[in-house]
Amino acid sequence: MTVVSQDDVTGESWEHVTLGQRVLFGTGRAAAHVAAEVDRLGARRVLVVGAAFPEVTAGLDVVARVADVRQHVPVADAERARAMAAESRADLLVSVGGGSTTGLAKAVALTTGVPVVAVPTTFAGSEATNVWGLTEASRKTTGADDRVLPVTVVYDAALTLSLPTELAIASGCNALAHCVDSMWAPRTDPIDQALAAEGIRALSGGLRLVRADPGGLEGRERTLYGAYLAAVAFSSAGSGLHHKICHVLGGAYGLPHAATHTAVLPYVLAFNAPAAPEAARRITAALGGDLFSLYDELGAAHSLRDTGLARESLAEAARLVLPAVPPSNPRPAGESDLLTLLTAAWNGDRPEWSLA
Ligand code: NAD
Repeated sequence: MTVVSQDDVTGESWEHVTLGQRVLFGTGRAAAHVAAEVDRLGARRVLVVGAAFPEVTAGLDVVARVADVRQHVPVADAERARAMAAESRADLLVSVGGGSTTGLAKAVALTTGVPVVAVPTTFAGSEATNVWGLTEASRKTTGADDRVLPVTVVYDAALTLSLPTELAIASGCNALAHCVDSMWAPRTDPIDQALAAEGIRALSGGLRLVRADPGGLEGRERTLYGAYLAAVAFSSAGSGLHHKICHVLGGAYGLPHAATHTAVLPYVLAFNAPAAPEAARRITAALGGDLFSLYDELGAAHSLRDTGLARESLAEAARLVLPAVPPSNPRPAGESDLLTLLTAAWNGDRPEWSLA
């Protein structure tokens, strides 16, 4: 009999955690789905986070509403919203808005434990992760805690129709970045990669439809579906090189979230692809071509210069990113590599690598 010792085992081994939440997808059904969830959860005192789309919560017993939402969840805003939740004795938070709004609801859930029903109106994907973020004095702190994972996500593509096309495309590219980075992020596994590949297919197809017919629902629906897959993959796989770069740029220079992700993504893909050929092949197949050509088709803004980053900041940015580079990145990235990558992204030139 052959005895296999632990040291001899060299086969595949991985761990995947699936986060538990209910997803209700229905175009034009947000108000009905939210009302059904409030009933199912037995909630009596709803605190609404976000001022947009009041029709979604119009039929509920709302005890208070946090209308003022700013980007990156300033700590002072979180404290104010937590005080409102305590004073109103809220037993459910219903957030209606983009990633900033979902983020504010998560900040309340983090300290109060009050559950969240999230109604996203962009493609940022925060609703499907257990990650929270807070900002104080230009420093962003993030963490993972299952209390902030919305118990239910209510997707209604009709709510995204009012997103201006440029913002819809940048937000969709932010979701594409979740997928691409999930292919090599530190905790990536085959399930994340399968979700990411299907996410890329849905997002690239959906965004092409959004560009061709900005008022049409089908493109918004496919993009919203892809945004959910992207966020589930990202939540499990963690932050890869792309997210580390964008986190530093957003925090240090206050750059707009979705536009920064859009600008950086083609350059991280071009940098990592030669060292991750299987991931690159799957990404290219799911995109139906190379990423830069898709950007051309979509008219996506792909220059860091356009996000407001000063050229003089690039060297400092490369220094700041260096300690955050994941050791598991497919290709080692030193300071000069990062500066080259950031400079190319700032110039917005077509990256040299292309599989297609
Ligand atoms: P956002 O929520 O700040 O929204 C961007 C702009 O779009 C805002 O002016 C908002 O009012 C407007 N808007 C939103 N929905 C609209 C609609 N349907 N029609 C018209 N205008 C609309 O931006 P975002 O890109 O959705 O989210 C970015 C934030 O989310 C960042 O702070 C980011 O860190 C966070 N985020 C967190 C996670 C996570 O897992 N925790 C994941 C992704 C993003």
